[in-house]
Amino acid sequence: MFIFFGTRSSKIKTRKLQGQTECPYCQSQNSFFATTFGKYFHIFWIPILPFSKTTLVECSHCKKTYHTNELPENIKRALHKTDGQNPVKRPIWHSLGCLVVVAFFALFTILSVVGLLFYKTDKDERETLLLADIEQLSNNPNQDTDAISYHLKNCIIDEIDGIDTNEIEYYSKINAGKLLVLLNIKKGLSLTEVTSRKQIVFAVEDCLKHYVLPEVPVVGTKQIYIGVKDIFSFVLIKTPDSEDMVGTFADNKLLFPFYGDKPVEE
Ligand SMILES: [Zn+2]
Repeated sequence: MFIFFGTRSSKIKTRKLQGQTECPYCQSQNSFFATTFGKYFHIFWIPILPFSKTTLVECSHCKKTYHTNELPENIKRALHKTDGQNPVKRPIWHSLGCLVVVAFFALFTILSVVGLLFYKTDKDERETLLLADIEQLSNNPNQDTDAISYHLKNCIIDEIDGIDTNEIEYYSKINAGKLLVLLNIKKGLSLTEVTSRKQIVFAVEDCLKHYVLPEVPVVGTKQIYIGVKDIFSFVLIKTPDSEDMVGTFADNKLLFPFYGDKPVEE
């Protein structure tokens, strides 16, 4: 197996040394060039992280090369002077991997912030309230805490087109003169003909009007919001202003007005 990481080096810069120099080997005057190489760590030949730099000095006349630590003092001075005037800088691509990582995190941060802002402005608190109410659905509604559901369950006892009414879960809630009634029909609803499904909503309306509301006189409400769902989503919704009872799922936004008007965006 190949291991595609390690170190590589590349030439960064070659420059002629400034100032008075003499080659110790061939005695040529001012014949030196210095070349600097940069080492970097790579993975799959993509530079990730730069580390050391090496400079070699070569006499252009006799081609003898010197490491910086073996240079005669006058050449070392010339090298310092040359690099002092015009420092050797690493090319940015030696840090490509680091830059990619930094860029990735910067992008991630920006997208997160933008996403958060978008989410915040798009968020409708009424959806959260509805989801919380869906959690309250019960097959055995309590007569004291949810009398409407309790009486509704006792009223809807006839089988409706293959739906076992004993299995239906109920929840009801009153908010500012409005009544919300939720039903959860875990099985059978999708098998029921679209035209027959509406019978459930009509049964709820009948029961409320003729049996339940007279039993629970405190309600005194006329605005009724009915939502019938299966295990996946709402299937039937009927409210004072709208209804959605013909598709395989109903838009739960229709129930939002029960909780009030949409909050004004900041
Ligand atoms: Zn030389």
